[in-house]
Amino acid sequence: MSTTQTLNNLIENGNRYANSLTEYSRRKTITVNVGDVPMGSDYPIRVQSMTTIDTLDTIGSVEQTIRMVESGCEYVRITAPSVKEAQNLDNIRKELRVRGYSVPLVADIHFTPNAAELAARLVEKVRINPGNYADKKRFETIDYTEIGYQVELDRIRDKFLPLVNICKEYGTAMRIGTNHGSLSDRILSRYGDTPLGMVESALEFLRICEDENYFNIVLSMKASNTQVMVEAYRLLCKKLNEEGLKAYPLHLGVTEAGEGEDGRIKSAVGIGTLLEDGLGDTVRVSLTEDPEFEAPVAKALIDRYSNRKEKSTIISAFTPTQHSALSTQNSFDSPINPFQYFRRNTHEVANFGGHNVPRVIADYSKIEVSEHEDLKSIGHFYLPLPDKWTMNDLGADYIYTAKNPAKYMLPMGLKEILDASLWAEQNDKLNKFPLFGIEAYQENTEKHTTLNFLSISLIDLTEELIRQIKADKTLVLAVETSNEHAMPALRRLFFELINQEISTPAVLVRKYDNLPESDFQLFSATDCGGLLIDGFGDGILLQLPDLSAKAELITKAKSYNSTAFGILQAARTRMSKTEYISCPSCGRTLFDLQETTAMIRKRTEHLKGVKIGIMGCIVNGPGEMADADYGYVGVGKDKIALYRGQNVVKKSVHADNAVNELIEIIKEDGVWFEAVNALEL
Ligand code: SF4
Repeated sequence: MSTTQTLNNLIENGNRYANSLTEYSRRKTITVNVGDVPMGSDYPIRVQSMTTIDTLDTIGSVEQTIRMVESGCEYVRITAPSVKEAQNLDNIRKELRVRGYSVPLVADIHFTPNAAELAARLVEKVRINPGNYADKKRFETIDYTEIGYQVELDRIRDKFLPLVNICKEYGTAMRIGTNHGSLSDRILSRYGDTPLGMVESALEFLRICEDENYFNIVLSMKASNTQVMVEAYRLLCKKLNEEGLKAYPLHLGVTEAGEGEDGRIKSAVGIGTLLEDGLGDTVRVSLTEDPEFEAPVAKALIDRYSNRKEKSTIISAFTPTQHSALSTQNSFDSPINPFQYFRRNTHEVANFGGHNVPRVIADYSKIEVSEHEDLKSIGHFYLPLPDKWTMNDLGADYIYTAKNPAKYMLPMGLKEILDASLWAEQNDKLNKFPLFGIEAYQENTEKHTTLNFLSISLIDLTEELIRQIKADKTLVLAVETSNEHAMPALRRLFFELINQEISTPAVLVRKYDNLPESDFQLFSATDCGGLLIDGFGDGILLQLPDLSAKAELITKAKSYNSTAFGILQAARTRMSKTEYISCPSCGRTLFDLQETTAMIRKRTEHLKGVKIGIMGCIVNGPGEMADADYGYVGVGKDKIALYRGQNVVKKSVHADNAVNELIEIIKEDGVWFEAVNALEL
């Protein structure tokens, strides 16, 4: 099927999951009342988080809740694994009210309907996981007949109805929160481990609620895999529309995102991508850190959209009369399948496009590359004694030096891009590559024989330029936008490349002026991650801000390089680090998760591409880390279970020795190697 046929087919079938793919427009939802903090599209996007303290520790829970509220939480979730904890929610709530805090509380329920039924009488909202509310997981594949499946649904209805009735009677809200890692055997048997399975898992419960005229419901589709998570939320919106179900508010989250920079980038890639399309009514960022660190991250992600509508001007660039070369396009038409990842089809140019991983280009346009040390910050290290270069896993592929050519010969693994006018003056034109503007490119100037870069934005695409781009097999595009609604503006450009059947690789170029470092990480991860998740982007160039001191610029270059690799990893397009799928911990956690994660990271962070799950409890841990190659899961006080994939290898190892044992398992698989710390060279 040709690209055009694919486009027509997809548009005919309807891929609408958002109001618009070009203009910022928040999805219209019903209002859900959660205590006195309502949620939905008539209200601001709400921030929430979850306590990590034992729910039976009333004062500890109260004090942590207060810290969370002070940090920006508008709802606070507390685990209620059994009736005991559910009952204690009453004490926590009363003590909070005594201390003047009216924050709505949410009971987090897994497996225990009786705890849910009690909690629904005591707090403002309950969260159930449809994968384990009425089911015990047996990891069985059952071939259900239609009748057999219906019998199962009837069984769920019987177990679930009492909770629905209590919520109706008490005015309690409910989140039906699907987790990719804990789908029921029934769903897995019929739909597999897929976004569709996640959506159906929630809809089975939602249909029961609607039958009972209970609508005070929020939905979520969380996963640790950002591609799966984004696809599931989009599919959910489409399915709600198609089935004529109400437009319920969405709770957004990436599960087990991890800690520090990686956790923030991964959260931004998943959550930010959806916020860009106007999806999401409450956000929880899950970090393996104290919960009061989560709300500021969620708030930074949300606040970016507070006046986005006024700044969004992409539509005007589409008007065919203004730009006759551009295809006419409705604001929700998409030439790709937004519910399944496919990388845009490109031809290979040097090491861009085709089957190559996306490349990282470090911006050195403001840094004079005069000493070997200057490249350390982007992962390239000079060893004087053997007189050779080495690089670590975060070694940039290219540097863009603009008008400042490097003063010495660069290492083999690092290539240089210069502005075309400067490149033309170089003696060595073969090992450096030119970046053209449109005018210079279209003039018949000298070009490199194998690799040229062209800086473009959507508005530059004339019929003549489209013809030239198609004919030039040495070209890589550097795509830019000055639009505040940057991700959709660049996405619109990629749609155009597909519509025009242009298979030229394209590098994402972004610049952020005057942003604090933390916002830079989140915003670049949202903009570039959102595009990568849709299969767009064969490289990243994050431009440095305008600073004058070289030392400051080098420090920035280091952090930008790390962010670029982090974004590629979080969007699952290039693995350059060990991936840690660590839960945020909660009242069920039996060991210090943060300390343990740091310890495991220290020993294993050189194992590029290996995924290690670190989970606080055996009840949900194994399911939640479904994606991991190895798992470290708390099973009791000082007792750890170790996993290879989904299979438990050691059931009860003492915590003192568990990391060593985990490494032994990795060694048995031949995956282990000793770390060479290039940074200390
Ligand atoms: S996996 Fe972690 S966050 Fe989830 S229930 Fe267990 S301890 Fe709590």
